[in-house]
Amino acid sequence: MEDIKKTIIANLQHVHKRIERACQHSGRDRSDVKLLLATKTVPADKIRIAIEAGENLMGENKVQELRDKDKGLSGLTLERHFIGHLQTNKIKDVLKYVSCIQSLDRLKVAEDLDRRLQFEGRSLGIFVQVNTSYEESKFGLPPEEVIPFIKEIQKYDTLKIQGLMTIGLLDVEKEKMRPSLVLLREIRNQILQHGLLDIEHLKLSMGMSQDLEMAIEEGANIVRVGTSIFGNRFLGKEIWNEAEAE
Ligand SMILES: *Cc1c(COP(=O)(O)O)cnc(C)c1O
Repeated sequence: MEDIKKTIIANLQHVHKRIERACQHSGRDRSDVKLLLATKTVPADKIRIAIEAGENLMGENKVQELRDKDKGLSGLTLERHFIGHLQTNKIKDVLKYVSCIQSLDRLKVAEDLDRRLQFEGRSLGIFVQVNTSYEESKFGLPPEEVIPFIKEIQKYDTLKIQGLMTIGLLDVEKEKMRPSLVLLREIRNQILQHGLLDIEHLKLSMGMSQDLEMAIEEGANIVRVGTSIFGNRFLGKEIWNEAEAE
């Protein structure tokens, strides 16, 4: 465990360097970019190391993992977000653990969330997930449906819209990843022009291990990083196919 601890702390320092450098490079304020630990498949004891090293934001893709790791993370000050595909039958469960859902892309889920949140007398942070790569395998709304969707979910007082989230195109060729990131920013600008939300409620959650620098250059406010901190996930299957994994 000592070796693992050293590695995780060194990796974290390296990721923070990358974030800092990208901020400098694009003339952005370091405080405008948050790091979210993407912790799917990572056991609680490893996550604990990162939190104790100063991190305070994590995201899980599955309700099951939130539940399984909950005890192992007790006593820590941290904010948990949900970043995976959410099924309506898991809503009650997911709300036990998270303060924000970054992956909202269906009205049915919004409606069910609102009903449950009203019952619990609380509100929830929301990011609208956008499929900026137009890949069929990816979740998220098609870009042209984002504005009508936001208008619909603004009816729900319990859902506090905080921004937009995307996974974007991942490619070994770096520049192929940029258009997805640019597109998310452009969608944000359209929403601003429509006067639907102000900039404070239009944070951009984009950028992962592979493309975090580019995402920061294009305006990311939250980068979600797993592999560069915790190492490779040996799942033996394509991780992005979350529907199949659930
Ligand atoms: C896994 C995951 C990440 C992090 O990806 P890495 O390449 O491991 O950094 C970010 N966002 C979502 C939605 C994920 O599922």
